[in-house]
Amino acid sequence: MSIFVVHEHHARQLHFDFRLEMDGVLKSWAVPKGPSLSPADKRLAIMVEDHQLDYGSFEGTIPEGDYGAGSVAIWDRGTYELLNGAIAAGKMELQLNGNKLRGAFVMTRMKGKDKEWLLIKKKDAYADPLFRLETVLKAR
Ligand code: MN
Repeated sequence: MSIFVVHEHHARQLHFDFRLEMDGVLKSWAVPKGPSLSPADKRLAIMVEDHQLDYGSFEGTIPEGDYGAGSVAIWDRGTYELLNGAIAAGKMELQLNGNKLRGAFVMTRMKGKDKEWLLIKKKDAYADPLFRLETVLKAR
């Protein structure tokens, strides 16, 4: 069992950083529209640089002038299991056990792309076709 974190990041553009503990770091993807519990939503997830594990508990403000300046809050966190696949294979099936995100998800790298993935909820008891993402922070 490993941890996952979703940061709500009010940078120049609001996005959600989806982070998975893997190989001693937080593998990270920026998800512009945020994760969804609706299997109909295919959320673009752009792979960004790894972060250190302890960044998973970070909340606060990244100062003006620094990369990603703006406020950061934990939107969700919990544990996950990699059911199958791997980053190198461009496809992973994950079982998330968070407060908001629960159940099975698939991540697939888009054909011909290096950093662009899709994050999609699988149909299961936690799927919610009416899911609407609510943010925890007010825009700065
Ligand atoms: Mn970010």
